[in-house]
Amino acid sequence: MKSFEELGLSEGTLSVLKKKGFEEPSPIQRKTIPAILDGEKDIVAQAQTGTGKTAAFGLPMLELMPEKSKNVQALILAPTRELAIQVAEEIHSLKGKRKLSIVPIYGGQSIEIQLRSLRKGIDIVVGTPGRVIDHLKRKTLKIDNLSYLVLDEADEMLNMGFLDDVREIMEYTPEEKRTMLFSATMPAAIIQLAKKYMREYDVIKITKDQLTVSQTDQIYFEVSAADRFEALCRIIDIEESFYGLVFCRTKLDVDKVSNHLMERGYDADGLHGDMSQSQREKILGKFKKRLLNILVATDVAARGIDVQDLTHVINYALPQDPESYVHRIGRTGRAGKEGIAITFISSKEYRGLQLIQKKTKTDIRKAKLPNVKDVIKTKKRRIKTVLQDIVASTPRSEYFIMSEELLESNNPEEILAALLQYSFQDELNETSYTEIEERVVDSKGKTRLFVAKGKKDNLTRKKLEEFIVSKCNISAGKIRDLEIMDSFSFVTLPFNEAEMLLSLFKKGKKGVGPLITRAKKKASKKR
Ligand code: ADP
Ligand code: MG
Repeated sequence: MKSFEELGLSEGTLSVLKKKGFEEPSPIQRKTIPAILDGEKDIVAQAQTGTGKTAAFGLPMLELMPEKSKNVQALILAPTRELAIQVAEEIHSLKGKRKLSIVPIYGGQSIEIQLRSLRKGIDIVVGTPGRVIDHLKRKTLKIDNLSYLVLDEADEMLNMGFLDDVREIMEYTPEEKRTMLFSATMPAAIIQLAKKYMREYDVIKITKDQLTVSQTDQIYFEVSAADRFEALCRIIDIEESFYGLVFCRTKLDVDKVSNHLMERGYDADGLHGDMSQSQREKILGKFKKRLLNILVATDVAARGIDVQDLTHVINYALPQDPESYVHRIGRTGRAGKEGIAITFISSKEYRGLQLIQKKTKTDIRKAKLPNVKDVIKTKKRRIKTVLQDIVASTPRSEYFIMSEELLESNNPEEILAALLQYSFQDELNETSYTEIEERVVDSKGKTRLFVAKGKKDNLTRKKLEEFIVSKCNISAGKIRDLEIMDSFSFVTLPFNEAEMLLSLFKKGKKGVGPLITRAKKKASKKR
């Protein structure tokens, strides 16, 4: 495998990479760096999130750029302000001693500041499409001598409806330039864009593990909407040091979940597109410094946010498609560290989850939520550690005098217990936790189903069998223990097929319950 030295990079760049701690090129970098340095063609490159695409185009571009140019040499378009800033920072950190200037321009930042920096003569502009168009129209940005145009996170730019803007921006660029398109996924619209607006191009794809996330342990829980928040808290509580992203589908959910977490005393906050730029930067900064250990976000707000070493990514709601699942999950398990990806689903969403598993060719296991006893055990351990840390690090304060006074008339165990009671109240009391209803696969991985039809509806074993085969594409041999009674029936199916069937018959028809439900266990124990 090629090292950075073998990719044709200069001494200066190699020493920058060494300082940055990049030991070897990522697969996409191995392929794009020589292609850009030595070739002439345009580039269409695909590799999943977190694989170092910025350096993949940034490094060779920096190598090729002359200093002291009078014009903007490169324009990099990115879908969001965060990404524009992040890309600008990454490229800045890669440029070493070269006299090249890089500015991010994006909506939200004062246009005056941007104008000032644009007037200074810059080499690389990184911007969101909307703000770039503003500047082009005001003629405060000129790109008619551009040598490179980069469309970064192209799929996301299209998703966000920037296609027209991107086309319009292209109108301002000269014929003679190199266009490079980088994207985590390659939907048809991107290929069309490339075909229409790019010269002859090389396609570089990192297909291996393209839609898989090998370092990540993937599990899911089936919890009803009502229990979701409790489940989330347990997952956070059971960890010694949780550092994770929680994904919600809507801005409203982000607010709800993050506020709820804050009310419970967690170091959490939310991030979504409606917040002001400075607000978002502040929150993100805190998260990166680990002043917050839980960040709740929408896909759009979190896309591309580069935070290292997350212990968890939690899909509070099932992502809309397999691609966004992969993007979300890509945040954890980076740099050889194992991460955990957790997905909450309702029984209705089971099919969506199956689709994701199929497309990503990964196995998402069903798991059991941490139980309250274990959560409490962890909390107790944590309290002890924290207290010992405080004892070790805090100089004698006024509390010390108070403590002496208290000990004069009480014994230490009692007064400490009272203090803990005062601080934690019900938190360590099992009965104060809400019960969560969970469905867990039985040990044999099978589910017994109840069918609300029987002999008097003309149902036969054969008919039921055929029906199940047609609905969930299963071989008849896997259908077990059919029992056809007068007005109802039973059948046993492997867990997955049973879930699928249940999700198909979630709703009953007017006034009647669903046709297929889980068979009730015999009431052997009183609740
Ligand atoms: P992508 O655009 O593919 O999502 P980024 O370019 O944002 O990925 O890179 C993700 C992170 O990986 C960044 O923090 C970057 O500094 C780091 N990185 C990039 N290339 C390497 C490398 N060869 N070795 C180590 N870290 C790298
Ligand atoms: Mg990127």
